[in-house]
Formats: sequence, C-alpha cells, structure tokens
Amino acid sequence: MVADASRREPSYELIMSAEITDLLWDGQRVSGVSYVQDGQTQLLEADLVVGCDGRSSVVAERAGLRSRKFGVPMDVLWFRLPRLTTDPEGLVGRLSRSSLMGAIDRGEYFQLAVVIKKGSIDVLRERGIELFRQRLHDGLPWLGIESSCWNHLTT
Ligand SMILES: Cc1cc2nc3c(=O)[nH]c(=O)nc-3n(C[C@H](O)[C@H](O)[C@H](O)COP(=O)(O)OP(=O)(O)OC[C@H]3O[C@@H](n4cnc5c(N)ncnc54)[C@H](O)[C@@H]3O)c2cc1C
Repeated sequence: MVADASRREPSYELIMSAEITDLLWDGQRVSGVSYVQDGQTQLLEADLVVGCDGRSSVVAERAGLRSRKFGVPMDVLWFRLPRLTTDPEGLVGRLSRSSLMGAIDRGEYFQLAVVIKKGSIDVLRERGIELFRQRLHDGLPWLGIESSCWNHLTT
C-alpha cells in the first residue's frame, strides 16, 4: 500500500531492500540513518526518523528507547496438520476451562494454534508427544478420525 501510494507522490522516494544499521546524530538530535543496500553503506539525512522496524528495532535501540513489556500469561503453539476432505471447513475452535485451541482451514492443511501456559513448553516436551496428541484429540476429537495425520505431529 505504501509502495503504491508513494509512486504517486512526486517528492517521495521509496528505498527498498535496505537495512538500517545506525542512526545519524546532530548533537542530541537524530538527523538521519545509515543503511546498507546491495552491500553498500549509504547515509540518509532526515528531519524525521520513524522507527517501525519491529520487535528487534535497531532504530529504537540506537535511540536509547526502551520498550515497555506487557506480559501475557500464555504462549501459542502454531503448527500444521493435514486437512482431509471429511474434516470441517473454515475456522474451528475449542474454548473450555482447560483448553483453548483453534484450527484455521488452509485448504490442504489446518494451521493449528494451541494456547499453553506461559513458559510451559519444556514441561510439555518432558511429558511426551502422546500426551500432547491426546490433548488435541480431547479438544478437537474429529482430528483423530484419520490417525495418519498424527504421524505429522512429532516433537
Ligand atoms: C507467528 C505470529 C503470529 C501472529 N499473529 C498475529 C495475529 O493473529 N494478530 C495480530 O494482531 N498480531 C499477530 N502477530 C503479531 C504481529 O505480527 C505484530 O504485532 C506486528 O507485525 C508488529 O508490527 P510492526 O510493524 O511493529 O513490526 P513488523 O511487522 O515486524 O515489521 C517490521 C518491519 O521492519 C523490517 N525491519 C526490521 N529491521 C529492519 C532494519 N534494520 N532496517 C529496515 N527494515 C527493518 C522488517 O523486515 C519488517 O518488514 C503475530 C506474530 C507472530 C510472530
């Protein structure tokens, strides 16, 4: 969207495939960025630098901006399982006191999301894959109709 919109602006230049590596400073003020494109380091002066480079933001780190973390009590396991023609269509979910999981219909496979307690992945691994399979089966029983699906689910 940004790329398409920028082409209509005569004074706007979009630089693609460029990795910001550092900030330029004018005293206490951020005055631009340095970036690498095609192996070449370039400098770009700017009145305004907006850091929107994700959770490992170089811009924020170099500017000394520290993010506030809002902890969440859960982790989500994402994985695929084959989808059979006899399986339900669309988004299928299970929400109960003990289980929160969803299966997103991606045509030939389901993208599954299983919510687990924050940081409990190692405990799950220790308990073994069979218990995890059982948990899935308890939540979404139709997944167990074709047992060959489970061969795709290993540690
Ligand atoms: C598996 C997964 C599933 C998710 N599911 C959902 C969901 O269902 N709903 C939801 O709301 N959120 C979801 N999120 C979270 C969501 O993706 C993020 O919150 C969101 O993408 C953050 O947007 P952002 O623009 O800050 O960063 P990003 O989307 O990470 O964009 C940062 C961009 O900056 C670029 N970049 C990074 N470093 C540099 C650099 N040095 N120089 C130049 N460019 C750089 C990256 O290539 C990237 O294009 C999910 C995240 C993950 C990992």
